[in-house]
Amino acid sequence: MLPVNHPKPYTVVEIAHILKADIFGSQANNHILIRNLWTDTRQSVKTSESIFFCLRGPHFDGHNFLDEAAKKGMFCCVVDCLPEQLRPDVTYLMVRDTKEALQQLAAHHRSQLLETRFIAITGSNGKTMVKEWLYDLLHPHYNCSKSPLSYNSQIGVPLSVWKCSAENQFAIIEAGISLPGEMERLRHIIQPQIGVFTHLGSAHDAGFQSREQKLAEKARLFYTCESILVGADQPDVVDYFRKIYPEKKLLTVSSTCTKADFTFQTNASGEVFFSSKHYDLERIKISSPFKDIISNKNLILALSAGLVLTDGNLQLIEKIPTLFQVRMRMEWTRGLNDCMILNDCYTSDPEALQQALQTLLTSGQYRKKIIVLSEFDQLTEADEQMAFSTLLETLKSSEKLSDTKVLYVGADKFEKLSELPVEKAVFTTTQHLLSYLKKNPPTQSDILLKGARKFQFESIAEQLSASLHETRVEINLSAIGRNLSFFKSLLPVGTKLMAMVKAASYGSGSFELARYLASLGVDYLAVAYADEGVELRNAHITMPVMVMNAHTHLLPLIFENNLEPQIFSFGQINFLKNFETNSPLSIHIKIDTGMHRLGFKSTQLKTLLNELSVLKETLRVRSILSHLSAADDPKEDKFTHWQIEQFHRAADQIDKVLGYHPIRHIFNTAGILDHMDERSEMVRIGIGMYGISHRPDLQIHLQPAIEWHSFVSQVKDLEPGDSIGYGRSFVATKKMKTATIALGYADGFRRILSNGRGGVYIKGIYCPVIGRICMDMTMVDVSHIPDVEEGDPVEIIGPNQAIEKLAQAMNTVPYEVLTSIGTRVKRVYFKES
Ligand SMILES: *Cc1c(COP(=O)(O)O)cnc(C)c1O
Repeated sequence: MLPVNHPKPYTVVEIAHILKADIFGSQANNHILIRNLWTDTRQSVKTSESIFFCLRGPHFDGHNFLDEAAKKGMFCCVVDCLPEQLRPDVTYLMVRDTKEALQQLAAHHRSQLLETRFIAITGSNGKTMVKEWLYDLLHPHYNCSKSPLSYNSQIGVPLSVWKCSAENQFAIIEAGISLPGEMERLRHIIQPQIGVFTHLGSAHDAGFQSREQKLAEKARLFYTCESILVGADQPDVVDYFRKIYPEKKLLTVSSTCTKADFTFQTNASGEVFFSSKHYDLERIKISSPFKDIISNKNLILALSAGLVLTDGNLQLIEKIPTLFQVRMRMEWTRGLNDCMILNDCYTSDPEALQQALQTLLTSGQYRKKIIVLSEFDQLTEADEQMAFSTLLETLKSSEKLSDTKVLYVGADKFEKLSELPVEKAVFTTTQHLLSYLKKNPPTQSDILLKGARKFQFESIAEQLSASLHETRVEINLSAIGRNLSFFKSLLPVGTKLMAMVKAASYGSGSFELARYLASLGVDYLAVAYADEGVELRNAHITMPVMVMNAHTHLLPLIFENNLEPQIFSFGQINFLKNFETNSPLSIHIKIDTGMHRLGFKSTQLKTLLNELSVLKETLRVRSILSHLSAADDPKEDKFTHWQIEQFHRAADQIDKVLGYHPIRHIFNTAGILDHMDERSEMVRIGIGMYGISHRPDLQIHLQPAIEWHSFVSQVKDLEPGDSIGYGRSFVATKKMKTATIALGYADGFRRILSNGRGGVYIKGIYCPVIGRICMDMTMVDVSHIPDVEEGDPVEIIGPNQAIEKLAQAMNTVPYEVLTSIGTRVKRVYFKES
């Protein structure tokens, strides 16, 4: 039970009344009190106090999870269409649109909170930072509620507002939008009295026509505000607010404009000084823990907002040194012995703990879970209480207690720990825990590290890590999700998606990504070889998987693992004829329409049809497919159309012989973009998931999902005449400075990039390779960068160097760049919040 921050409970009938919903099913639950809104069956909640909202999204439909929710104890749900069979013990609230209903309920709840002051924060960047820091400055002096880390959307905002209660003096709510019209709905839910506008980004948002439209849309949030704080470094933004809200109090915050209401300066030694026309503040030194200008700007915005809210309580300034850098990502890294490590040592509030626990307990359902916790530092008694009850509640509602272990570091709270219904061990110092882990190394586990700063859990992450070679590939799962949504938006409704995870998901790691794709609701996975499929099954991925190179001698292994082979030869057909089986064998039939790689050619079709008519009782043909040779080349469109027609003609004949209609698919990423038609019931997407496409005009809708980084191992000064690397292929003619990078051709940084053909970016500046690339190391020219040091990060693929550019320098295509990144390079997965 969470003691504070809880809404006044409403009964089921009260909620039905607020939503103007019709009640179906059981009437016995009408007076049960609802405390939680539940939107995802993977979340663990106390179901006896929760109402389940069946939301619809691009990849999911909550209505499909009613059975699962019922299994977990759901007794009441909000739906926009009734299931065929009503459960006798469940109450169904029927509304027109479930997302609108969620928003309506939150708006109603907001309207009851007359004493709480609502602060709304928006802007293109920085809003999470400002929100977190404003909260940290006010808390625990003032009773505050805030949006959880990432809840700023059309669904996140209602959930954030729902959490607020009458005891809160302040509710700090973050609002983000991606489409016109959305802000109006958020404004209605939040009804803020104070507005904070962080910054208007120049990034091109796909959803808006212009910068003006974007600003106008965001500004709507502040319609009900008395005061608005806005960064003054963007004069057009300030002018706009003055123009549309002449009657409101506009307070400006700036590092450059001395006329602003709140100003700050940083001197050469990094000290920050703060002044304000209000509250008698003249050049006060503040001990900012941050060095960069962006963090300091956001800090000052948070501080100014805090002063406005508290009418100038200067004690807020004293809390500044305790602030943490807000980490926006929770990182999964691959550990030793097939472990995955979720490092979340950057946040300390109970909510963040709950989020981290949810992420851990809901990923990879069949794996062991280890929760490594430290004593909570810097938390108030009440927060600590709450953190413990969060832990207890989350664990209680988890289904896999027997496979969960808690490792705790700290001297306090031993008795409390004993209440946790799982195996646990207590260590007084991190050092003790480290030696325990050395003796008992975890295997095949998902491990959460959540420790206060002073316990230095980095050392645990390091010990459990797969490799100390620090070159790493970062895979942005959120970007992959967004790219898939974009492709899905181009397809006719109902088109199925097959995700190509062959070659370890184009080098990004097979089962980690496959697991994520499964959670997004992709329909099929495809791998190139049987052993890749077996690996997915060993990682407990249960969704359908097609194997492309399903050679005859591997068919037993394929069927044993419930994988589905692609059938392309009569050798395979003969094998199927003699294969003993009780149930029909799921297969896919590959037609060769011109690629001349795998598949039955048109001349073989007649024989194939004969064979199928004999075999059809033992087979279950899941799909018929072909592959295009030049989908991305408009010059070959005529050939492509011919291929597509050939394919459907063959598939029609197969349908006739089978007496049913298997799924048809022929389009890869390029095919979807240039040739999609209604006859294709599934598409096979590979490279597009990573944000790569042959169409530059679509690049703005796609987000690169892969980055590749390394580090500087050593910096050297060269004198004229010094040579570099093997074969002395480069000799300095003047004084130079070089950096040696922990990256070589064994990592996939190909030797062809030697001597200036390729390069990397350090501090955002291009550094060409000099000399020959070695197996494990590369030297680059950094003469033009004044302050390069050992350990500095190096970008190989990222915002400065797109993969396409590197591919060009390597004389190849992005596919080959991705799949040749060495296996020793660490893969790190993260989701943006
Ligand atoms: C790899 C592959 C795809 C995916 O191609 P992309 O260009 O990466 O989208 C589709 N179909 C087949 C048969 C493939 O081998």
